[in-house]
Amino acid sequence: MNNLTPQNIPTATSVLAQFFERFPELPIGEFYTHGVKVTHDSNCISCATPIKAGQLCHDSDFITNTFGDAPSLKSFSKNQGYLCCHCRVAISYGPSTMQFSYAAVGRDNAAGGEMKALKIFGVEDFIAAVYNPLDAPFVMVRKERKKQHMIWKGKVNLHDVRKEDLLFFSSGETTLFCHPQRVLNVAAKEQELLAQVRDYLSSKPDKKAPKKKVRQLKELVRFMQMNVNLCAPAIVFNDCRHESYGITDSAILERIDALCEVIRQFSSGDRQIYAHLRKLAYLKKTQDFKSMVAQLSPREVDMKAIIEGKPPAADADGTD
Ligand SMILES: [Zn+2]
Repeated sequence: MNNLTPQNIPTATSVLAQFFERFPELPIGEFYTHGVKVTHDSNCISCATPIKAGQLCHDSDFITNTFGDAPSLKSFSKNQGYLCCHCRVAISYGPSTMQFSYAAVGRDNAAGGEMKALKIFGVEDFIAAVYNPLDAPFVMVRKERKKQHMIWKGKVNLHDVRKEDLLFFSSGETTLFCHPQRVLNVAAKEQELLAQVRDYLSSKPDKKAPKKKVRQLKELVRFMQMNVNLCAPAIVFNDCRHESYGITDSAILERIDALCEVIRQFSSGDRQIYAHLRKLAYLKKTQDFKSMVAQLSPREVDMKAIIEGKPPAADADGTD
């Protein structure tokens, strides 16, 4: 061990374990009672938590080759690396890899500090969880394709996500960060500017007769291109200067340029949140982003179904 060894720093798997503590009926006890005892001080090969000599842990033999991330963990042979009990639960307990591959887990200070798990299965769940962040320690993961097991490799938010307007989350194989409120403001600002353009065009003196047909500018960033892949959206701007839109006011054009520049500088996570906001607005047929977001309420993971051994809810893909 060295000075960089994390001491009691929450890891994704310890956060999950803390949440599971609320449900003593879960059949995970054996992971804490049966394993191997190491003879020397070590660290978990997955989360780096210190493992003291004599402490119970697990060698990596339990990881089967069908586990998608096996190659990144199996390189450690039985005698070279050990996993802590929390990581074992996160990797080999079925619901950890199924229902918790699209989930947000963290503390809810408004509920007396209780650990909570939110489901982030679809676009609405995802945006609801992003805009109703749990308190630290807080981890959010979402698989992008089938058979991705997510929670064991999530990144923990140790700060106040709401206050800092900064959220780390894992999407598929990528760990991203985003600024939820900033992105929401930009989406709202885009609508404001489009309304300004409409006002401007309707008040513009009609100098030419007959009036040339002007196309309505409906968006600055093209939704259809973003919609192809919401997790890595292509940002394609409309050419607002094109004569068919009839915008010749330089002040308006400059405001549009400024907003486009902000969007251009979005982090990858910001782009993903922005694309999901646009998708949700499209599904809900609204342009009022702030009201839309204010009305969302996150759904909790159905622990009753897990405890009763029911298969994942009908909306889960049930493939892994
Ligand atoms: Zn671990």
